[in-house]
Amino acid sequence: MQRENKDLAAYRESEEYKRLKELRRKRRRKQVMIARTCVFGGAALIILVLVLLINALVSGLKGKETIAKPDNDLLKKEEKYMVIEKKPNIDVQLLTPNDYSRPGITTETIENIVVHYTANPGTTAKQNRDFFESLKDTHATSVSSHFVVGLEGEIIQCIPTAERAYASNQRNFNTVSIECCHMDETGKFNDSTYNSVVELCAWLCCKFNLQAEDVIRHYDVTGKACPKYFVDNQGEWDKFIQDVADYISANAVEMTKEERDAYYGESETVTSAPEATNLMEE
Ligand SMILES: [Zn+2]
Repeated sequence: MQRENKDLAAYRESEEYKRLKELRRKRRRKQVMIARTCVFGGAALIILVLVLLINALVSGLKGKETIAKPDNDLLKKEEKYMVIEKKPNIDVQLLTPNDYSRPGITTETIENIVVHYTANPGTTAKQNRDFFESLKDTHATSVSSHFVVGLEGEIIQCIPTAERAYASNQRNFNTVSIECCHMDETGKFNDSTYNSVVELCAWLCCKFNLQAEDVIRHYDVTGKACPKYFVDNQGEWDKFIQDVADYISANAVEMTKEERDAYYGESETVTSAPEATNLMEE
């Protein structure tokens, strides 16, 4: 026993033992390295698979988006138009064609509706219309308007929208004009006038495929204080535009281009210069 222990101790001191020990140590280290490599490699593989999966998912979603695009184009083709089916009560009293108020020059594509005030307190729509008509004889001045809205909310049409009125200066060629009657110097519209102007503007916006914001003041064209009350009170003008927008939202129905064209039918041609005598809004 003693002897064996002695031999063992001697053996442990031997170079052979040390060499084998070192060899074992190296082998262990190698095994640890292999184990670590396996663990890290496995983890890396899992991450790679996850990344690939996420990539596939994302590109799958992108693929869906590109599939959805043709649908959007289809929707564009079937663009919806807002149309107010209930036409305002328009009393058509066209002026006699003449160089001073109804020159018979065609309008181009209508891009704005221009609101004016008569600057003649207490006068009626009919009186203003007749004044425009009288210019064919008096030659006093050149002025007119497509529509005049009166104190009772009545709407008189003086000129077809396919023809120019003499109302909005350099914008006569592509605008429709509305003169509004008022009771006093402030130029404020009474409720009847106001409501009819909102209704008429909304209807014209839909007719010419415009937005409420496309309704402008004479002031916005030339800087003239017209319509005075809405120039003096910007907030009231903003409210008016909002009221036109609200009227459109509340009363317009969506139509496809085909439905819209069928709805307007002949009257749609008023923007394309037919014979003056056939240009009534009806
Ligand atoms: Zn004006």
